[in-house]
Amino acid sequence: MAELSPVLKQATPVLAARGEGVYLFDEQDRRYLDFTAGIGVTSTGHCHPEVVAAAQRQVGTLIHGQYTTVMHRPLLDLTDRLGDVLPQGLDRLFYVNSGSEAVEASVRLARQATGRQNVVAFAGGFHGRTMGAASLTSSGVKVRAGIGPMMPGVAFTPFPESYRHGISEAEAVRSALAEFDQLLATVTSPKDTAAVIVEPVLGEGGYIPAPPAFLEGLRERADRHGILLILDEVQTGVGRTGRFWGHEHSAIAPDILITAKGLASGFPLSAIAAGSELMGRAWPGSQGGTYGGNAVAAAAALATLDVVRDEKLVDNAAEQGRRLAEGLRKVAAEHPVIGDVRGLGLMLGNEFTTEDGRPDTDTATRAHAAAAEKGLLLLTCGPHGNVVRMIPPLIVTAEQVDAALELWQEAVRSAVS
Ligand code: PMP
Repeated sequence: MAELSPVLKQATPVLAARGEGVYLFDEQDRRYLDFTAGIGVTSTGHCHPEVVAAAQRQVGTLIHGQYTTVMHRPLLDLTDRLGDVLPQGLDRLFYVNSGSEAVEASVRLARQATGRQNVVAFAGGFHGRTMGAASLTSSGVKVRAGIGPMMPGVAFTPFPESYRHGISEAEAVRSALAEFDQLLATVTSPKDTAAVIVEPVLGEGGYIPAPPAFLEGLRERADRHGILLILDEVQTGVGRTGRFWGHEHSAIAPDILITAKGLASGFPLSAIAAGSELMGRAWPGSQGGTYGGNAVAAAAALATLDVVRDEKLVDNAAEQGRRLAEGLRKVAAEHPVIGDVRGLGLMLGNEFTTEDGRPDTDTATRAHAAAAEKGLLLLTCGPHGNVVRMIPPLIVTAEQVDAALELWQEAVRSAVS
């Protein structure tokens, strides 16, 4: 007899037996609207028939073609296909299994390519739980507590947070960019700074979109100083924000882009993309891993990209995201405890705040639990766990959005009563 370790913490009490589209079913066949998408992973919904068929075909053909030993067709085809959707010039890719691994790989790549050591990350950012990725993470202390010392060479600087500071977006951008300049002038010289890593929407840190002017300011500074701009599109990529990539809400492109979650509809796969000149400066053989670019995951990713294109899921994310945001704002208007509703596309957060402006974690926790009881699965985020986030599969319909809004309305009502 053995049991799962308490180091794993479960957000809902549900024991999932099967998944279909936007729904999960427990062992008693109770149906839940899954607005977590496995933390933004099941982009095409649970068990999309085309993804299932592609994976099943591949399982019977070749499961593991280890890519540093032999190459296989699904990975070549996937690479070719990603070339159609990646920003121009980011035409060299390699693959690992998770977001954290991709983050670490991108930092190794940036250090090799520049010969510099330091990395700038943003306060509130989340980049993963492995040692290097956790060292870049400050969305909540639980990721770092008790495991230090962390990887050296990381400098943090503020992310523009207009709601938390009660200032305009323009002021938040101005101030965050000024802090960034100050950091380069006082803590990490541009000559020592390999990269700056940023999420187009601060994810685990509270679902705060990076204002376009902020990303554009970072791009300009990166160019000026020869610092590489790494965009962590692990959560925002593959249509999540209503554009194919989260950074497409601004006028910039990264030097290195990493993507994972939504890419393969639930199979472990992450990709690191950069231009050929940059990749050429890395040491051959310095990246990779036994399972990276698994053939079944690659086949599932190809099918995912087909479904995203054929079912116009990026447009659907934008459209249903607008509908969901509008409904959430109506709920917030009736309940002052929800101080802010924000996000992009189908990546939306509801921030719970007390009357005197402090994080209201208790009410957020009650609303989250009440929603699960009523059949709507959600997640929380933010350093204080007071942001309830909604991140449904990109296939979600207007009827499902409306059903979720009704359950959310009831959940918030019961949490405040
Ligand atoms: N980067 C971002 C932006 C993420 O949201 C996450 C996961 N929440 C990660 C990295 C880490 O990904 P993984 O859990 O697959 O290691």
